Amino acid sequence: MKFSLTQRLTGVLIGVLVLTLTTISLATVVATSQSTERTLQRELAVSERVLYSLLHQRGQQLVQAASVLADDFGFRQAVASDDEDTIVSALSNHGRRIDSDLMVLFSPSGEVSISTHELPDIENIAAGDVGFVESEGNTYQLVVVPVRAPHLMAWVGLGFVVDQELAAQLKGLTNADVTFLSDQENTEIYASTLAVNLQHDLLAALQNEALADDWYESQGLRGQRLSLDGPVEVLLSVSYQAAQGPFRVLRQQLILVIVVTLLVSLLIGSLWGRRIVKPLKKLALAAQQIAQGRYDTSIKVSGNDELAQLGNSFQKMQEAIAEREQHISYQLYHDTVTDLPNRRLLARETENRAKAGESFQLAVLTITNFKQLNDTFGQDVCEQLLKQVKVRLLRVSDNFWLASLSEDKFVLLTTECTSETEYFQLLECLKTPFEYAQASYFLSFALGISESPEHAIELDHLLRQAHIALMRISREHHNIGFYQAGEDEYHMRQLAISGALKDAIKLNQFSLVYQPQLDLEAGQVVAVEALIRWQHHELGFIGPDEFIPLAEQSGDIQALTRWVLQEAMSQAAEWQEQGLELRIAINLSAADLLDSSLVNYIQALLADCKLSPRHLLLEVTESAVIENPEKAQRSLQQLRDAGMHLAIDDYGTGYSSLAQLRALPVTELKIDKSFVMQLDSSVDDQTIVSSTIELAHRLGLKVVAEGVENKASWRLLQEYGCDLLQGYYIARPLPEDQVLSWITSLDISSISPANKYRYKTK
Ligand code: C2E
Ligand code: CA
Ligand code: CA
Repeated sequence: MKFSLTQRLTGVLIGVLVLTLTTISLATVVATSQSTERTLQRELAVSERVLYSLLHQRGQQLVQAASVLADDFGFRQAVASDDEDTIVSALSNHGRRIDSDLMVLFSPSGEVSISTHELPDIENIAAGDVGFVESEGNTYQLVVVPVRAPHLMAWVGLGFVVDQELAAQLKGLTNADVTFLSDQENTEIYASTLAVNLQHDLLAALQNEALADDWYESQGLRGQRLSLDGPVEVLLSVSYQAAQGPFRVLRQQLILVIVVTLLVSLLIGSLWGRRIVKPLKKLALAAQQIAQGRYDTSIKVSGNDELAQLGNSFQKMQEAIAEREQHISYQLYHDTVTDLPNRRLLARETENRAKAGESFQLAVLTITNFKQLNDTFGQDVCEQLLKQVKVRLLRVSDNFWLASLSEDKFVLLTTECTSETEYFQLLECLKTPFEYAQASYFLSFALGISESPEHAIELDHLLRQAHIALMRISREHHNIGFYQAGEDEYHMRQLAISGALKDAIKLNQFSLVYQPQLDLEAGQVVAVEALIRWQHHELGFIGPDEFIPLAEQSGDIQALTRWVLQEAMSQAAEWQEQGLELRIAINLSAADLLDSSLVNYIQALLADCKLSPRHLLLEVTESAVIENPEKAQRSLQQLRDAGMHLAIDDYGTGYSSLAQLRALPVTELKIDKSFVMQLDSSVDDQTIVSSTIELAHRLGLKVVAEGVENKASWRLLQEYGCDLLQGYYIARPLPEDQVLSWITSLDISSISPANKYRYKTK
């Protein structure tokens, strides 16, 4: 069972009160009963004294009356003359006069001579109060006085009966119940002020002495037994209950006080509890609302106490939380550097516009040289520049909605019909250098634009399309580009290819083809270039030009290169076993040159396949070397040191001069096919190719021409002194199982230009 705080507070209050009141009550009960006991004892003592004194008084009264009789002349004469009749008459007359109940005349020695009642003789008779005597079921207080004339002639005795009247009289004086009883074996009650039924009980109890005390207790009495002269006892008893009378009132009052106190404190407790609980409830409610994200509850607790202070603190806490949350949510939706809306807010904005059916353009503005700036000048400078870009953009026009996408990119939401010219004007404003800390910084920008809802509705799609446009214009060296419908599909295919690349090796989807290289000097095929092929079950055939760059981007290229190396070398070993000595040319990517474990890997493979390093030629493009010249050069050196041949591939497509390439430990130069394919018809190509060959030879490099598509080109190349030829005219890349038969059946003289040289045939 659950109790509310008010109930618990009231409970505690009442508990404490009950405890206190119980203690007080107990103390009172103990004190009053002790006091009652004392009162009773005192009453009994007083009663005892009163009883004795009363009996004594009566005794004196009797003595006086007896003395009057004993002094009476007539009576003495009658005694002296033993005149019985006169004596009797005198006794009875006198007795009537003083209202005595018993008259007796004793002989000088104490024998009863004449008596109104049956009495025993008295031994050692002496004047005064004799005490009590029993006669005929009654007890009497008896006194005797001598009758002298002048010598002792007799004793005259008078007695009062001990009866109900005496008992009542005594009770009236002592306030205790008085019971006269015989102290003989057969106890009997002579007179008693006790109720009749009590008298019976008392008699029964007295039969058994031991029970007497208990009996008092059981009857709510306190008693005292006194022995009187003679065979009589007096029992004084007082009622405990009667003595307690005044205390009972006190107790009733006490109970009343307790009940009233409890009721009042119950009331006060619940009121007080409510007074405490009310603000607490208020605080609890406020806390609940804070938890639910509502911060507008007023938490004012009146007063000046701790609860009021708590309420105050709660209020402050609520405000602080609200403020912090506002701050957090601001940060959540804003860029920390530029303070512009971030991608989250941008998403909300585009969504709202889409819902409202609005058409707009989304332009991604990128700082194309941001990475260099960041590398050169550091983050702090770049952050300042970003802020300035923002300011400048906002100053140009307020016709667009501006957001920060990433550290080097902004997004502008513009109206649907914003033209290229307008974008151009925007870029113009950003052309002037940015000033910061007395230095000028040139920033270059590019804008990729997609349109909603024409191209896409969702932000992700719009952004991707704008980025596709950016990629295109970066290839085309433009700085503004609108996304064109369909570009996305190409991009999607690229994504699909990138995704499929991961599993292609495992799924055994790659294969190698080999394109023969003809040595003009030797007049025979001395080498083959291994070229990768990929047949995907859904995407179909994917050319290496398409997926190699993607593998380079995704980082899958290293695994791919290793697969090619392994596959090609085991193939070369197989050919070697079949008696075909062929050098295998394998293409390496930039990333491979950064792979420091590649050299060891290749050496292990060579050892496995029992091939000599001279059977291996590794082709590297100049761009791969340029990306990281020092590291690439180190890798190439290691490969060269290990005895492998190295060739510069696609020579002529890059910007490097032969002189620069000289520094590299390469052994061959492969003139790119773009210069060779139309060699026979292009005078320019002829100039380039012939001079390249000449120069390469001077640098001690062998020259391979790829892309030889006709006999005329062959002839020219032969004239220029080219060392090796590769091209469709000689052979297309061949599946591994066709290489051996193709080479054996090759008749060079049938394809070679005018047989200026004589070729060996196999
Ligand atoms: P590449 O290294 O310049 O390879 C020569 C490319 O020219 C091959 O295209 C080949 O089929 C083609 N070719 C040869 N002779 C002629 C000709 O007379 N006319 C024409 N039009 N083309 C000719 P492929 O096999 O499509 O390879 C394209 C590129 O893919 C290669 O260019 C190379 O950069 C890359 N590649 C191919 N296989 C691998 C590989 O295993 N690893 C790496 N890293 N790249 C590879
Ligand atoms: Ca190649
Ligand atoms: Ca090439």
